[in-house]
Amino acid sequence: MIVEHDVALARFTTIGTGGPARLFARPRTLADLEDALARAGEEGLPVAVVGLGSNLLVADEGVDAVVLRLEGELAAVEVESETLVAGGGAANAVALHAARNAGLAGFEFACAIPGTAGGGVRMNAGAYGSDWAGVMKRALVVDGEGASWRTPSELGLSYRHSDLRGGQIVARVEFELLRGDPDEIKAKVKELNGLRKAAQPTNRRTFGSVFKNPDHELSAGRMLEACGLKGHRIGGAQISPKHANFIENADDARSDDAIALMAEARYRARERFGVLLEHEVRFLGALDFRSEETRG
Ligand SMILES: Cc1cc2nc3c(=O)[nH]c(=O)nc-3n(C[C@H](O)[C@H](O)[C@H](O)COP(=O)(O)OP(=O)(O)OC[C@H]3O[C@@H](n4cnc5c(N)ncnc54)[C@H](O)[C@@H]3O)c2cc1C
Repeated sequence: MIVEHDVALARFTTIGTGGPARLFARPRTLADLEDALARAGEEGLPVAVVGLGSNLLVADEGVDAVVLRLEGELAAVEVESETLVAGGGAANAVALHAARNAGLAGFEFACAIPGTAGGGVRMNAGAYGSDWAGVMKRALVVDGEGASWRTPSELGLSYRHSDLRGGQIVARVEFELLRGDPDEIKAKVKELNGLRKAAQPTNRRTFGSVFKNPDHELSAGRMLEACGLKGHRIGGAQISPKHANFIENADDARSDDAIALMAEARYRARERFGVLLEHEVRFLGALDFRSEETRG
C-alpha cells in the first residue's frame, strides 16, 4: 500500500475546502488497514478516516495525522440472502443499487445521504424517519487494538451520534433488509429524491446539515432563517439561500470562512432563541474557533 505525503484533502470533501494530510493511505484490505494503523503507531501520529467527506470540515492548515480512505475490498458491496454487506468505504448509492437489484427494501432513505456505509455508522446517518441504527445488524470496528463486530446498541447509536472515537475505523457494515419489489424501491427513491430537491441545495458544494436539530419547535434551519441568515456571506462561504442549515462554497471558500459563518449562526440563534446549536458536521485538524469565543 502506497503512503502519500501532503495530500490535499479539499478534493476529498464535498464542500471542497481543507488543507493537506501529513500522510494519506488508501487501504484496500483488512491487512492493509492493519498495516496503516501499525505505521501510524510507529510514526506516533493519530489516525483519521474520510468517507466521501460529506459531513466533514478540514482545517485549512491541514491535518497532522495519517488520514485513511477505504477502497477496494473495503469499499465493496455484496448481498447474502437478506443481508447487505458493505465495506466501510462503500458509497451509499452503490449499496442502494445493489440492494435494489437484489430486491431488498429498507435502505431507500439513504438515497438522500451522499456518504459511505462507515461514515453512516459514525454519524448514525438518517433521513425521512429512518437511520443506520434501524437497518444495521452490526459493524466491524478496527483500531490499534484489533477488530470486533459491534451492534447498534454497542456503538451507542442515537440521533446523529455514535460512541466511536477517532482512530476507530468501520471496515464493514451488515444491514438487515426486507424482501421488496425492485420497481417499488425505484419509485420510492424517485419520490424521496424529488422531496429532497425541493427543500435543499442539491447542486451546490456543501457538507450537509451544519447543526443538529435542537429540542425546540423550530428546526435549526428554521431558526437560522428567522434570524435572517439565508444568503449571509463571509469570504467565499455563504448560508444557503434555499435552506439556512446548509453552508455553500459559493466562491473559492476556505474552511475558516465556514467556521466564521457557524460562529455567527450560533451567536444569533442563542441571542434570539436562547438555544445553543450543536454542530452536526465533524471536524478534522486544528480548526480555529476563536471567532465563536469572542462572540460570547
Ligand atoms: C447534500 C447533502 C445532504 C445530506 N443529507 C443528509 C441527511 O439527510 N441525513 C444525514 O444523516 N446526513 C446527511 N448528510 C451528511 C452526510 O452525508 C452524512 O453524515 C454521511 O453519513 C457522512 O458520510 P461520509 O462517508 O461522507 O463521512 P465523512 O463526511 O467523510 O466523515 C464524517 C465523520 O465520519 C467519520 N468516518 C467516515 N468514514 C468512517 C469509517 N469508515 N469509520 C469510522 N469513521 C468514519 C469521519 O472521520 C468523520 O468524523 C448530507 C450531506 C450532503 C452534502
